[in-house]
Amino acid sequence: LMQLFRPLDLLGWVYRTIRQGLVDMAAMFDLIDTNVEVADRPDAPALVVRQPSIAFENISFGYDEDRQILNDLSFEVPAGSHVAIVGPSGAGKSTIARLLFRFYDPLSGRILIDGQDIAGVTQESLRAAIGIVPQDSVLFNDTIGYNIAYGREDASEDEIVAAARDSAILPFIDSLTDRFDTEVGERGLKLSGGEKQRVAIARTLVKNPPILVLDEATSALDTRTEQDILQTLDRVSANRTTLAIAHRLSTIANADRILVLDHGRLAESGTHAELLTRDGLYAEMWARQAAERQADPVT
Ligand code: ADP
Ligand code: MG
Repeated sequence: LMQLFRPLDLLGWVYRTIRQGLVDMAAMFDLIDTNVEVADRPDAPALVVRQPSIAFENISFGYDEDRQILNDLSFEVPAGSHVAIVGPSGAGKSTIARLLFRFYDPLSGRILIDGQDIAGVTQESLRAAIGIVPQDSVLFNDTIGYNIAYGREDASEDEIVAAARDSAILPFIDSLTDRFDTEVGERGLKLSGGEKQRVAIARTLVKNPPILVLDEATSALDTRTEQDILQTLDRVSANRTTLAIAHRLSTIANADRILVLDHGRLAESGTHAELLTRDGLYAEMWARQAAERQADPVT
């Protein structure tokens, strides 16, 4: 009987999650144990995105009172630009994405999208404006078509096929007997990691958000697959405001701006070339990863 309860709990959770359009964020944020503690203000208006810029203004945040994770962090992502956030594990990178989605409110400071404080708009409109590709995308135990269309309930068949084409998963789908009606299996187990990420990218394309957040979107993939997916992401993110969180620096070297986060503070920022010249934390991380690539070229 106990065995029965868990799936039912999970089902209820998945249902609520779907309702809120949070499924990939849930995967990214390990939300199962997290209580969502922010609420819309009464009469909050919808976010209106014309120029999808992002600004963090003096943001401080901690999950508990006794430990601050982000310290007076300020940065801007101009509309249409690509900004990368790098830094050691635990530096607070994913926390930045969580705050952007307003899973938590900052202790102090403001986060603006197109000049509007995200604390003052509806969460629904905020989350509709942002598409996310997490490290390990969640697929539903349903068909490939369902999993792609999930990005927007009213998507037409043409839009779904176009999204599959643009995310380079269409040839794979065409090779399957049941094409879009193929069941992906429990948590998408019948698909490889790369195929799952492509389905997640297709889902994001159907959603067509002005802002894209990639949180280590390729870090679970082997190098070869990573290169393929990065090319697809490059195409998908063209002309979209993109915040890319990365562990492997080689994947974000061409960003318009790179922010180096260390212990919740902005340690450095600039282009790849500028940061190498500076000879600080970024240059050190770059040298270390280059040495690792040399030593172990397959990973
Ligand atoms: P990164 O993505 O840079 O690896 P995170 O932003 O996920 O780092 O986490 C930053 C710090 O916050 C880490 O020390 C992590 O353990 C802590 N942390 C993350 N999520 C929670 C949470 N829900 N409750 C308490 N601490 C957390
Ligand atoms: Mg992270």
